[in-house]
Amino acid sequence: MSQLQNNAHAIKAGNSRYGPSTPVVIIGAGPVGLAAAAHLTEYNLPFVIVEAGAQAGHSVRDWGHVQLFSPWRYSLDKAAVRLLEPTGWQAPDPEAYPTGHALVERYLAPLAAHPAIAPHLRLNRRVAAITRVGRDKLSNAGREQSPFVLYIVAADGSEEVLHAGAVIDASGTYGTPNPLGAHGIPALGERAAAAQIFYGIPDALGTQRERYAGKRVLVAGSGHSAFNALLDLAALAEQAPGTRITWVVRRTAEGMAQAYGGGANDALPARGELGRRLQALVATGVVQLINAWRSDRVEQTAAGLVVYAGERSLAPVDEIIVTTGLRPNLAMLSELRLGLDPAVEAPVALAPLIDPNLHSCGTVRPHGVNELSHPEPNVFIVGMKSYGRAPTFLLLTGYEQVRSVTAALAGDWEAARRVELELPETGVCSGPVAAGGAVASGCCGAEEAPAALIALEPVAVTASCCEPTVQATCCEPEAKADCCGTTAVETITAGSTLTLVAGTGSSCGCR
Ligand SMILES: Cc1cc2nc3c(=O)[nH]c(=O)nc-3n(C[C@H](O)[C@H](O)[C@H](O)COP(=O)(O)OP(=O)(O)OC[C@H]3O[C@@H](n4cnc5c(N)ncnc54)[C@H](O)[C@@H]3O)c2cc1C
Repeated sequence: MSQLQNNAHAIKAGNSRYGPSTPVVIIGAGPVGLAAAAHLTEYNLPFVIVEAGAQAGHSVRDWGHVQLFSPWRYSLDKAAVRLLEPTGWQAPDPEAYPTGHALVERYLAPLAAHPAIAPHLRLNRRVAAITRVGRDKLSNAGREQSPFVLYIVAADGSEEVLHAGAVIDASGTYGTPNPLGAHGIPALGERAAAAQIFYGIPDALGTQRERYAGKRVLVAGSGHSAFNALLDLAALAEQAPGTRITWVVRRTAEGMAQAYGGGANDALPARGELGRRLQALVATGVVQLINAWRSDRVEQTAAGLVVYAGERSLAPVDEIIVTTGLRPNLAMLSELRLGLDPAVEAPVALAPLIDPNLHSCGTVRPHGVNELSHPEPNVFIVGMKSYGRAPTFLLLTGYEQVRSVTAALAGDWEAARRVELELPETGVCSGPVAAGGAVASGCCGAEEAPAALIALEPVAVTASCCEPTVQATCCEPEAKADCCGTTAVETITAGSTLTLVAGTGSSCGCR
């Protein structure tokens, strides 16, 4: 039996499994966990949200000073909006770009306070482990009939257990950043230097200004978080003379074009703009870029922190900012039977769609319960955590995931299997509509169409890397697109929504 059939069977057999003593438990009251709650409300299924922080949107608050690169219209879940609108909630300007703080204040906080959600939100409680009642990972007998049991540790240290009919893990990856060490483990001396190392994007122009003003700062990493940190530091350097910025990346100089992204071609212009501005700062020497650098040791000296890569070392710095990505915390799931890709740490059916080794840009076709199922029925990892170590997750993708997963939990398999194509074209190397109506969407295996490009007839969806010019921008120079396999995709059109029946699309990528 496939994982999906397994799930369908278990969910059908167990719809009665959800009740006050065995609700659907959502882990994490971030944007995706709260969206899951909104969808479960519409299905009238009982749920509890367990949140480690003191307030909803705990992780987003941590990077609240950062402006999203997605405008509001790509940042709201539809079921959540349907819940909020009758309360007199004012929708933000769809074209404006929120900061993390605005996302919390104008959207997540009102959603968490909604009478349909607030009574079911348990704050200051961290899920530490999940298993099945009376069964460990090895036990087969009666496994699927046995409810889940979650072991929870509260902020005051007290413990409790909670039973669940299904588990939606929307706990994100924000709490588990990758280390400075380029081998995936901490560099020698990294832990000892913790007081001078920040993981993430510090508020260098606000609350943490004093920490960085006039200092020698080293930034590690080549994603959008690094870009944000570097741009803030460059703005600080204009105001605070003596601020010196060194940027280390593993990429070679030749690989930088890809790191900077699609610039003006990025369909999320705010994201493309980040790379363009940073490139200019490197060109003018405001940011000193060191390529092909693999940090493996940090030494605390009288002159400052000295970072090594083998025998090579850099000039001493006062502070290090690590923006080398995030990874999922899988420890709490270790008693469950998960199907995760060994490299990406995303569900096996999702991983090939988002593996950064294959895909250079952030577009992924929408996906739902099919791709998110595990050998263990009724457990789903959604949101940022569903992408494992891949860095390209977008909120709209998470909202589509929980729409599909909650429909499956409610037994609404028609809605669960339908994948609604309502994502923007988010790749950094978008292609045009190809001749014949095929949707040449974002590069590297993406198959979604922006609403504006919806064809009225069933279309063959081709991967965009087929165009030589597009291929050049979306694959590494030495890699070529491994695609052009065209697969007929069953489509249904309704108004401005195009529906792709999941599982029938082709995928391709760079090699
Ligand atoms: C700086 C930054 C900028 C971003 N900008 C954009 C953007 O512009 N557009 C976009 O689409 N996406 C963006 N993203 C990516 C992504 O959409 C966000 O990270 C988003 O917050 C992910 O939502 P989530 O609900 O999956 O996880 P999170 O927002 O991380 O929420 C997870 C929640 O789970 C809680 N939690 C964690 N562990 C436990 C546990 N064991 N028990 C209980 N609770 C737990 C946390 O406290 C947290 O509240 C950005 C990400 C970052 C870091």
